[in-house]
Amino acid sequence: MNITACNVCQKKLYGYVYKDFMYCNYCFHINKTDNILTEVKNNNRLDNFKEYILNTIDYLDLNKYGKLNVLVINDIDSIFIDKVYKKLSNKIGKYNVHTVSVTPHYNSSYFSSHKHYKYSLTDYITDIVKNEYGSFDIILLNDSLIYTSNPKDLLEYCKRLSNMNTIILCANIHTSIFHSIDILNLTRYVNNVFNTNSLKLLCNNVELDLISCSTLDNSSFVSILSLHFDKNNTVVEDILDILYNEITYNIYNKSEYRKISNYWNDFIIHVTDLLNKYSAIGYNNPIFINYSKKDDLYFKFENVNCITKTDLHTFDKMDPDNTLIIITDFENSDTIKQTIKQQKNNKKWLIFDLHKMIAYNI
Ligand SMILES: [Zn+2]
Repeated sequence: MNITACNVCQKKLYGYVYKDFMYCNYCFHINKTDNILTEVKNNNRLDNFKEYILNTIDYLDLNKYGKLNVLVINDIDSIFIDKVYKKLSNKIGKYNVHTVSVTPHYNSSYFSSHKHYKYSLTDYITDIVKNEYGSFDIILLNDSLIYTSNPKDLLEYCKRLSNMNTIILCANIHTSIFHSIDILNLTRYVNNVFNTNSLKLLCNNVELDLISCSTLDNSSFVSILSLHFDKNNTVVEDILDILYNEITYNIYNKSEYRKISNYWNDFIIHVTDLLNKYSAIGYNNPIFINYSKKDDLYFKFENVNCITKTDLHTFDKMDPDNTLIIITDFENSDTIKQTIKQQKNNKKWLIFDLHKMIAYNI
């Protein structure tokens, strides 16, 4: 595949959004130009997606399915598939639910009730799974479309494993991440950033229908794809709502992308400047608390340590007098602050807030 071609419409990419992310002037999809990784990586931001799926199962009408085949693709452990299995079993009985996972990221336990293939979903694995199970009624694609360098092939495989009642659910990163400070949590494994137009086009290319889109947070959305399009369904309105917001945010306007690129270049310079100023007055140990580890992040600041919420115990070795804390794991911001406050009881920690560009003590 041509590295400067759009992953959705294959047309030549038009211009840079930030670093090696380029946008397509035709469908406004954004993809990396150096996407050499073929292995799909996972993101812990999937929590919102998984919660959404588990809530959705409560409302699913399962009467049209006799037995239910469920396929989970690219997960980091079996916790989610266990919960999905339990919920579905409670609704239609455990002998009517078959769960299969295709993911290279974990080994299934000996006692697992799910069939597990420790591979990525490829052409070959699709054939094997299809021979064994025929088709699936629910395909949980997780955030695989974000990481793959070939989203078209991945959907093609899902389509081969679908029947007319299948729903394919996936989590996607939305272009709005480039308008949000959430961009600091973007991992370097991300290859595709979608808008509803590019996702719809991608679906059309493999003759799937985009039947629904819902916003998960500032920078991601969940979408439901299917072979079957139900005209009586009102879901099209969901997509129109997001499309309307996208137009308001100038997502389909070329001039916006140069602005975004300039904005983040200036932002890096500005934040680096501030870190230097704090360093000059003694705060020479700046710590970013992100979703992901430093090596996995796309945005990097020189000489800054990055830790995740699971490493907060390292704060008991740090000195509040020289540590500047910057939390970009926004969702867990309150609990992170509480945890840090409990270290070195009587001392105050200095936090720098990137939204308001001010520092304060906790
Ligand atoms: Zn395109």
